[in-house]
Amino acid sequence: MANYDYDLFVIGGGSGGVRAARVTAGLGKKVGVAEEYRYGGTCVIRGCVPKKLFVYASQFPEHFEDAAGYGWSVPKSTFDWPTLIANKDREIARLEELYRRGVAGNGGDTFSTRATLVDAHTIRLEGENRTVTADQILVATGGRPNPHAALPGHELCIFSDEAFDLPELPKSIVIAGGGYIAVEFANIFHGLGVETHLVYRGKEILSRFDMDLRRLLHETMEKKGIHIHCETHFERIERREDGRLAAHLMDGGVLVADQVMLALGRIPNTENLGLEAAGVELGKLGEIIVDAYSRTSVKNIWAVGDVTNRVQLTPVAIHEAMCFVDTAFRGKKTVPDHDCVATAVFSQPEIGTVGLSEDEAAHRFADLEIYRAHFRPMRNTLAGRDERTLMKIVVDAETRLVLGVHVLGPDAGEMAQLLGIALKAGLTKEDFDRTMAVHPTAAEELVTMYSPSFRLKDGNRVG
Ligand code: NDP
Repeated sequence: MANYDYDLFVIGGGSGGVRAARVTAGLGKKVGVAEEYRYGGTCVIRGCVPKKLFVYASQFPEHFEDAAGYGWSVPKSTFDWPTLIANKDREIARLEELYRRGVAGNGGDTFSTRATLVDAHTIRLEGENRTVTADQILVATGGRPNPHAALPGHELCIFSDEAFDLPELPKSIVIAGGGYIAVEFANIFHGLGVETHLVYRGKEILSRFDMDLRRLLHETMEKKGIHIHCETHFERIERREDGRLAAHLMDGGVLVADQVMLALGRIPNTENLGLEAAGVELGKLGEIIVDAYSRTSVKNIWAVGDVTNRVQLTPVAIHEAMCFVDTAFRGKKTVPDHDCVATAVFSQPEIGTVGLSEDEAAHRFADLEIYRAHFRPMRNTLAGRDERTLMKIVVDAETRLVLGVHVLGPDAGEMAQLLGIALKAGLTKEDFDRTMAVHPTAAEELVTMYSPSFRLKDGNRVG
């Protein structure tokens, strides 16, 4: 074997790249990783982590309101955006350092520079103006918000990246999109007291989720005061004389706000990386094409995470990285398992979901039982909050297998994690039924729905 500087060189210090680098270095291999921005990647620096902190921040007004029903009187509250930003930044910096140290502590080299490929074994460290060589190379450069460059006035808009560091909290915002980011940020901004509009091109927000949950979340968000405009889209964005922005909609409407945010999906970071020089094949959206083992069209170059545009979720990138290490360095060929991935939308209330929605299951199974529970969670009773929880179980009537479980309500994300184990284990409805309830909880409904709410035969509702 040729003599390389590194056994593995990783381009991109996000969740997938850092995990692969840290674990491979832990195996005693010579590992280098380069990150051009900040270690931790999207998830830690401008994604999941700061988002969740913002979600917590935005929930306090409702907690203060609810306290009265439990006998508390809460003095008039005030909110300070710069305090939230500063505290968030401190926490992110702490995590960033942990990520970097995770690699360095296992003997890996960390570089703070952009890295590009010169050929299949040579990496250029741009900031250091030198090259290094590696036997195996992993590209884990993630993605970025779709800039939506065809939209006139798109340069006036912000993306989720900027939303984490706005110099001041806007009084009003218009958000385009109906996916995870748009819905989560609509709830965050509304909770922080911002007049919030959500503009979505489709009939109902969150197109990839179960329709019952989508409808109930939409209704609940509107009751809270979020303005949702479906079946329309931006035609153009203009800056007005007073400095505010006017979002002109396709249906003729105009929404005026301090900020306009685009959350229209994310695209892979593959430009100017030298991938072509190395012979790495890209797909239509610029994503790196990989085989089942995350290997690219070049034998010693691999890719994991959002840059491959498979499932854009942090835990998936980490799982792919672990499988890559098994395959490339532990002599144990391992295919990442993308089936039945549990996920949560940190809307308010939350969505937690795993497996097939009712509609997806109806396309694939001839005979289904649907179990539904729709109730006011106990916490909301004394609080006087009229928000309801929805739980839904989709069962294949022939095999009795639970195909999907969907929850809208407080802590649904936490429930989804455990439901993920149940579905991955291939449990049947009878397994759910013979599981003792934990009382009093909301989750107990998941094991006490004994009779189907209705049945679907060949896609048609019966009974
Ligand atoms: P999503 O794919 O969730 O949503 C994109 C939204 O933009 C959809 O509503 C889509 O509409 C709409 N859209 C796409 N293209 C256009 C267009 N040309 N014109 C108008 N509307 C358009 O992406 P996000 O940007 O919200 O998030 C990116 C990814 O990050 C997610 O897919 C998710 O995997 C991940 N993420 C996960 C989170 C979590 O786990 N909680 C939180 C945040 C992000 P349509 O549905 O009609 O196609």
